[in-house]
Amino acid sequence: MSQALVEHAEAVAQRAYAPYSKYFVGAVVLMTDGTEFTGTNVENAAYPLTQCAEKTAIGAAATAGYRPGDIAAVGISASPCGGCRQWLYEWRVSEISYRRADGSIGTATCAELLPDTWELPSGGGSPEPSKSEGAGSAGAGSAQQ
Ligand SMILES: [Zn+2]
Repeated sequence: MSQALVEHAEAVAQRAYAPYSKYFVGAVVLMTDGTEFTGTNVENAAYPLTQCAEKTAIGAAATAGYRPGDIAAVGISASPCGGCRQWLYEWRVSEISYRRADGSIGTATCAELLPDTWELPSGGGSPEPSKSEGAGSAGAGSAQQ
């Protein structure tokens, strides 16, 4: 399956909007129910605004109502960048296949691609303020202990 997904991603890459870099990337996201979403990189004249192929494809899946855990596998025509590795981790993708620069196909889990990944603390949102915060102002009449 990994080679087929990568080859499909390479076909999708031909539709990329990459007038600046001329570096065409495609991604295919295969959902656990068999649905597929595709994406390409979409560049912008303001270069940092460029969208990666993986984000385009995952965004399409999210728009259709899918959520983390719903992706069975991802195929990419190139090795995912650091930012996309964080996205793939968020979506808990267990099989990511991609074309390496040497032409071979690599397959890895999201955790293998991004070990010691940062995650939002459990419970989400902002962490509770530390009781040691503002220690320098203790005695100012605002102590809450
Ligand atoms: Zn990327």
